[in-house]
Amino acid sequence: MSEVDAASIHGAVRPEGNNHCPFTRGASPHATQNACKMCTPLGAALAFAGVEGCLSILHGSQGCATYIRRYLISHFREPMDIASSSFSEEDAIFGGGRNLKIGLDNVCAAYHPLLVGVATTCLAETIGEDVPQILREYRESRDNETIPQIVHVSTASYSGDHWDGFHKTVRALVEQLAFEPVGVATETPSINLFGGMLSCEDLRYLKRSCEEVGIKAHLIPDYSETLDGGSWSAYRRIPDGGTPSASIVGSSASMASITLGALSSIHPESAGAFLHRRFAVPHLSMPLPMGIEDTDRFLSQLAFLARGDVRPWHPDTSVLFLNPETESERSRLIDSYVDGHKYVAGKRVAVFADPDLLAGLGAFLSETGLVPVLLATGSKVANTGPLVRRIASSDGSVPVLLTGVDHALIADRCRELRPDLIIGNSKGYPIARELGVPLVRCGMPIHDRIGAQRVLHLGYSGAQRLYDQIVNTLLEHRQDGSETGFSYL
Ligand code: SF4
Repeated sequence: MSEVDAASIHGAVRPEGNNHCPFTRGASPHATQNACKMCTPLGAALAFAGVEGCLSILHGSQGCATYIRRYLISHFREPMDIASSSFSEEDAIFGGGRNLKIGLDNVCAAYHPLLVGVATTCLAETIGEDVPQILREYRESRDNETIPQIVHVSTASYSGDHWDGFHKTVRALVEQLAFEPVGVATETPSINLFGGMLSCEDLRYLKRSCEEVGIKAHLIPDYSETLDGGSWSAYRRIPDGGTPSASIVGSSASMASITLGALSSIHPESAGAFLHRRFAVPHLSMPLPMGIEDTDRFLSQLAFLARGDVRPWHPDTSVLFLNPETESERSRLIDSYVDGHKYVAGKRVAVFADPDLLAGLGAFLSETGLVPVLLATGSKVANTGPLVRRIASSDGSVPVLLTGVDHALIADRCRELRPDLIIGNSKGYPIARELGVPLVRCGMPIHDRIGAQRVLHLGYSGAQRLYDQIVNTLLEHRQDGSETGFSYL
């Protein structure tokens, strides 16, 4: 069995210890070392940041809000306020309901939010706080007219990660705000678009794509402006932008929902699945539009919907209609694959990312002639089938697939597999430096570069940007390592 034919490993337990770690050498370690995931309420805070006029409050210890703010601010380079109910030792024993009610009063007085998102932290979940009951008491004790809408989501970090927290929150928003449609008839066809955890530029791409075919899309959530807005002359406590609550309320009357992401779209607890079950809104699922094939698929599906046809995309029935500009983008991308092929063919790549981005990157790399040898995610993925189907290497080999793993294990496998390139977030820098290979930064968090929120991964233009970056990174690495140096390729 060759290295790339090695069996996939699922779960966080390292098989035979970490021979590079003096503490675990020769034994299976029981603790995560350098987690390849972020905490569950972080995903909740990110999703709430994509709703117009929304402020998050974390129910639990104050440090959780501080950590999450620090992570999101350093990635998005935007101010981000997240309130906390700030448990004391006493609250950790007797419950923090009183703190949450006072916190809600303070948040309403200081921020005047249109909506408050309440997410729990590990401590509140561990002591079994009944947040729905606390919120019922709060609403009853205040004049309902004067308090904003409140959406609650349970986000214990020991039973999930940021990816779960994000999707649970999107689902909670729809579940708690969407109403039975009453005689709603839209002149412009409207769809719900659940894009997932993407960059701000990706969200803008999705909105542009819908506009181009004349579809009104409720993008839920949409933090493209709230976390990547222009400069302000005066500080705003809650930035402009975000999905209006009315769009979430009206999501039950849309002609269809699209959930993007190879893994998110099949999740039975997704917001799209809920709308289908509760309001019979047709639910269409597809991978992230990364690379040529999946972008073709996404744009074909939008073209169907623009004609009022809610059939799911199928290769036998789909015809690709592109406007001349998009057609040129696609054509230039194919041309660039030809131009760059001699520089990337057979280059071995290790990738780590959130599950949907990982599947998208795997499919994109396979399309280009690069060979993914390792695909890893810190998230625990119950059904790896869609991931496996999207990552066949261009040379027919099978990459090592790791799910629910930490950076220590990813680093171990990188040492064994010796990739030419690593693709992942800033957390991949230490192993890239150790192995002397370049790191192409993708996903989240990116703490050691600016512009992470403007990285476009989607569409033909996103694939073009990523492809050029990968080819040039490999060329630069060759140039830097050349004894003679060369300036013509
Ligand atoms: S205690 Fe839990 S919720 Fe708080 S920062 Fe840590 S993992 Fe996240």
